[in-house]
Amino acid sequence: MSKKKGDSKFLDSVNQMYDRAVALLDLPPGLPEQIRSCNSIYEVRFPVKIGDGYKVFRGWRACHSEHKLPVKGGIRFALEVNQEEVEALAALMSYKCAVVDVPFGGSKGGLCIDPKEYTRDELQRITSRFARELANRDYVSPSLNVPAPDMGTGAREMAWIADTYRTLHPDDIDAAACVTGKPVPMGGIQGRVEATGRGVQYGLQEFFRHEEDVADAGLSGSLEGKRIVVQGFGNVGYHAAKFLEEEDGAKIVAIVERDGALQNDAGLSVERVSEYMRETGSVKGFPDATYVADGRPVLEVDCDVLVPAALESQITSENAGRIQARVVAEAANGPVTFEADQILRAAGKIIIPDLYLNAGGVTVSYFEWIKNLSHMRFGRMERRMQETRTQQALALLKSVTKAQIPEPLERSMQREMDELNLVRSGLEDTMREAYQHIRLVWRERDDVPDLRTAAYLSAIEKIAHYYTEYAVG
Ligand code: GLU
Repeated sequence: MSKKKGDSKFLDSVNQMYDRAVALLDLPPGLPEQIRSCNSIYEVRFPVKIGDGYKVFRGWRACHSEHKLPVKGGIRFALEVNQEEVEALAALMSYKCAVVDVPFGGSKGGLCIDPKEYTRDELQRITSRFARELANRDYVSPSLNVPAPDMGTGAREMAWIADTYRTLHPDDIDAAACVTGKPVPMGGIQGRVEATGRGVQYGLQEFFRHEEDVADAGLSGSLEGKRIVVQGFGNVGYHAAKFLEEEDGAKIVAIVERDGALQNDAGLSVERVSEYMRETGSVKGFPDATYVADGRPVLEVDCDVLVPAALESQITSENAGRIQARVVAEAANGPVTFEADQILRAAGKIIIPDLYLNAGGVTVSYFEWIKNLSHMRFGRMERRMQETRTQQALALLKSVTKAQIPEPLERSMQREMDELNLVRSGLEDTMREAYQHIRLVWRERDDVPDLRTAAYLSAIEKIAHYYTEYAVG
């Protein structure tokens, strides 16, 4: 992190971005403060027996806005986790859910831990103990608070949390809905692992459908051939880069990781970099690229789109002025500080903001939660019927017209209505609709200078509407 003295910390950045937007709305006195503030935060310390002794762990779960229940948001396992970070992330969850019309409030959890220091068995005991502490106070519950994966956690941890909850509440028929991002055989949903990266892809695709927005960035055309730099090659960065390269024909010209960066102007093969990292644990030494030990300056190389998909506060007032990308696509939460945001904006960059662009994860979490509550996988009732209908329609068309149906059209018509395709369709629709909405706010209101303010404005309006219309207090 290259935080310049004077740059706002993560929570302050989120709050200032909020303040900038809420000032454009005419809300009843007190409501802006109520929506901005974190409703509650639970801090816990608990011991776990490791080897011959005990280790005490410290964690948090914040509920930012409970205007809709359950509240929703991931659990992060990282050494740097702290209360303010968890509060900032919880606030972003409230706004994110509102932007994409997912009916949840915002929450987030964090545990101070370096998962790499522990065995699988130890991690299971630590996670289960943390889950028990949270579940005992309703901070894990299908109807009140539903965690999900975040940095340092994945399907395995979610399975342990679900198992702990089920043990505590054996009579809860909806127990599986207490957490999302579970393995598919444990009630998870197809497409959840890659959902945030997919959402980033769909969000960028939609941006490039709007010529006026693309022109404002000083670009033209589609994603095809666009030069993209990705920072962070975790779940989100890897999937976003993979889909953009393999399906949209973009060129991933650099991947910036903790241990250095890879650069190749002709474009990197994301899958090969990923295989190499799985084998060696590092990007260093990857054959078809130039390796740069200090990755930070690589964020500043000439490219069309910069995708920060790592930690918060990566673009600060220290490096913002040197960013050459025309579009900054915030796949991470809070990668740009409040001050950097202003510098980028003044330089005419287009920022596709986090509270919109990385909402794919929670969107598919919503589908998973609904699936758990309905106790049936999507498509189970209608898939065969739809398949038969399509076959009949195709046969009829062929016999009546005697014409050859173009192969891509036939393939698309025969696409199965299975769970994965339904999830993709729902996610794509969500990302497209949400972009269209926020861009309209941006374009139609003279006092809204950018997409971030538009997204905040849209989120705050929806949450405020809920308070003023339905909340009793
Ligand atoms: N941790 C993810 C996020 O920051 C997903 C949250 C969820 O699915 O609840 O959006």
